Amino acid sequence: MALTEFGLIDRFFAGQPLINACSRLGIGDDCALIEVPDGCELAVTTDTMVENVHFFSDADPECLGHKLLAVNLSDLASMGARPCAATLALTLPSVDAAWLEGFSSGFIHLARRFSVDLIGGDTTSGALVLTVQAMGLVPKDMALRRASARVGDLVYITGDLGDAGLGLKVAQGLVSDAPEAVLQRLHRPEPRVAAGLTLRNLASACIDVSDGLVSDLGHLLRASGVGASIDWDRLPFSRAVADYITRTGDWQMPLTAGDDYELCFTIPPERENLLQERLHSLHCTCRKIGCIEVSQGLRVTKAGREVQITVPGFEHFTMAAR
Ligand code: ADP
Ligand code: MG
Repeated sequence: MALTEFGLIDRFFAGQPLINACSRLGIGDDCALIEVPDGCELAVTTDTMVENVHFFSDADPECLGHKLLAVNLSDLASMGARPCAATLALTLPSVDAAWLEGFSSGFIHLARRFSVDLIGGDTTSGALVLTVQAMGLVPKDMALRRASARVGDLVYITGDLGDAGLGLKVAQGLVSDAPEAVLQRLHRPEPRVAAGLTLRNLASACIDVSDGLVSDLGHLLRASGVGASIDWDRLPFSRAVADYITRTGDWQMPLTAGDDYELCFTIPPERENLLQERLHSLHCTCRKIGCIEVSQGLRVTKAGREVQITVPGFEHFTMAAR
């Protein structure tokens, strides 16, 4: 029997117990209710994924469910917020139970791992568009912002750069000899939530890298009214990305490809020791790649020489679908 809108919500999304004390009312009424504890602020973010823009039509629905939530949790992580709740707006061309089964299980599995309550949403018919709004709590005035990097601060990046970009090349059939792990990085990004929480008291500014380091660090620099130099030779690459660069000479890829979902943050030099002490609580590696300078713009040096970036990062309305 065909599922109705309400049958679909009940079967795939409702019925998860609420786990956070701040989630006062979940799915089923006209609004959900969230209680923001004294001394906290609610961080709110939305990200949409559109078929043939953010994912291919044959994408694994379980990965889509994971990635849709993960990219939103990455935004919370970059602000130092602890995820607590999310709403999910689905526009579906048809009710495909097998697709919904996969999508909801990818979504709900990641939600449980990060203690996120699914507290509401909307379900409509139309071209496939997936939207999540995620919410998180952060102690008042403690959120990590883009606009507060200072001259002399050091620039750091979590994890490795370029794996998702390489994964996209594999998915597009442009590269054939890369390990499966790079496709995982593309399809199942791991939001750096623990790192964001640890960096609350340490970083001066932070942004998540969704559209490539050059583009996203550029946003942080402009917001802060400063510039930076980064050293290409310090950038963290997986073996797969290092091999790809050696083979192809394409050294710009890990600077400009999207979907890394690592955190790029700045830290005053006097707090570097504290960062070293707390490295284990980041739950990922992190690497110093440069420093903040007075002179506006981003300079990249490679083998001691300044190099020019000629490939733009991803931007909607100016580039073809990825
Ligand atoms: P309304 O018409 O009052 O906006 P809906 O009929 O759209 O409410 O939704 C009924 C309930 O189901 C609401 O609590 C809404 O938040 C929830 N809901 C609808 N779609 C989804 C979804 N895709 N995921 C989670 N909850 C949903
Ligand atoms: Mg509605």
